[in-house]
Amino acid sequence: PLLKPEVTPDEQDKQEDRIRPHRFADYIGQKDLKQVLDIAIQAAKARGETLDHLLLYGPPGLGKTTMALILASEMGVNCKVTSAPALERPRDIVGLLNSLKVGDVLFIDEIHRLSKMAEEILYPAMEDFRLDITLGKGQSAKTRSLPLPKYTLVGATTRVGALSSPLRDRFGLIQQLRFYAQDELSQIVLRTAQILQTDVSEDGAAEIARRARGTPRIANRLLKRVRDYAQVKAAGTINRYIAAEALELFQVDPCGLDWTDRRMLSVMIENFNGGPVGLETMAAATGEDTQTIEEVYEPYLMQIGYLNRTPRGRVATAAAYKHLGFTPPNQQLS
Ligand code: ATP
Repeated sequence: PLLKPEVTPDEQDKQEDRIRPHRFADYIGQKDLKQVLDIAIQAAKARGETLDHLLLYGPPGLGKTTMALILASEMGVNCKVTSAPALERPRDIVGLLNSLKVGDVLFIDEIHRLSKMAEEILYPAMEDFRLDITLGKGQSAKTRSLPLPKYTLVGATTRVGALSSPLRDRFGLIQQLRFYAQDELSQIVLRTAQILQTDVSEDGAAEIARRARGTPRIANRLLKRVRDYAQVKAAGTINRYIAAEALELFQVDPCGLDWTDRRMLSVMIENFNGGPVGLETMAAATGEDTQTIEEVYEPYLMQIGYLNRTPRGRVATAAAYKHLGFTPPNQQLS
C-alpha cells in the first residue's frame, strides 16, 4: 500500500541508504528535536562523554531510525540497529549488549514490544552499564554481574504510552517527532529527486508533498511512483499536473487520503451521523485491525482536522464532511 508508512522490502535496499540523510544538516524539519539533540551532542562531546539514553516517539516513517544513525555519525561512533521483536530470547539481547564498544549507539525500534525478560536485562544495562546474568536454575542459580562499556541506547516507539514506566524512566531524553509541514516535505522530495537524478519542478514537489501525509517515507515513495509514471507517460520534468495525474491513478487523493481513510470517514458520516463511533466498528468497516487504525490512520486524520477522538468514540468533523462532498450537520436544513 502506497500510503502505509511501514517500510516496504524495496525500501531496505541500497538506494534507500543513498536517500537517507547522513548529517544533521541534511535532516530537514523537526526543528525542536534537532535543537535539543544538537545541544546534547555538543555538551557530551565537550565533556568527552557518551550521550544520554534517548527515547524517540511518534508515528512511523518520520525519521526515528534516520536520526539515530545521524546521532552516531555526529558523535563519530558506530550504530547497531535492531528491533524489539528480534530480541525475543534473553540471549539475543545479552549478545547484543556484549558486542557494544565504548560510545556506541544501540538503536532498538518498536521498543514497547520488548519481552519482560529482555526489559529486565536492560534495566541495569541502561542504568549502571552492567549486565546481570543468571547461571543455573532454581536453588543453585547464581547471578553474575559483568561491566558494560558506556553506550547510548536510542529507543523508538510509535506508542509511548505502551512503555512500562521503569523503562521510560531510564531514558535521559524523551523526544517526540511530529508530522512534517508541507514545505519541509517539498524540500525532502526535491532532495530525493536530486539523488535519484529525476527532474521535478517546485510545484511538482509541492503536489507530491501535499499528498504525503506529513511523512517523509511516504513522500519518497510517492516520488518514485510518479517518476515511473512520468517516464512512461510523459518525457521531461515532473510538474504538478503530471504528479497529480499519477497520484490520482494510484488513488491517493489531494489530501493524501486512501480508500481506508475515506471509508472510515464515510461510515462515520453515513451510518452514524458523524459519530461518536467505536474503534471496533471502524475496524470492522474497513477490515483493518484496531492498532493500525489507532497508530497509522487516526493520527493523520486528527492532524488535518478530519477526526476527533472523544471519550465516547470517534467523531467526523465538518471538514471531513466537506472533503467527502457531504453537507456538515450544522449546515443541514431541518
Ligand atoms: P520507523 O519508525 O517505521 O522505523 P522511522 O521514523 O524510523 O520509521 P526512517 O526510516 O528514519 O523512519 O525514515 C524514513 C525515510 O524517510 C528514510 O529513508 C529517509 O530517507 C526519509 N527521511 C526521514 N526523515 C527525514 C528528514 N528529516 N529529512 C529527509 N529525509 C528524511
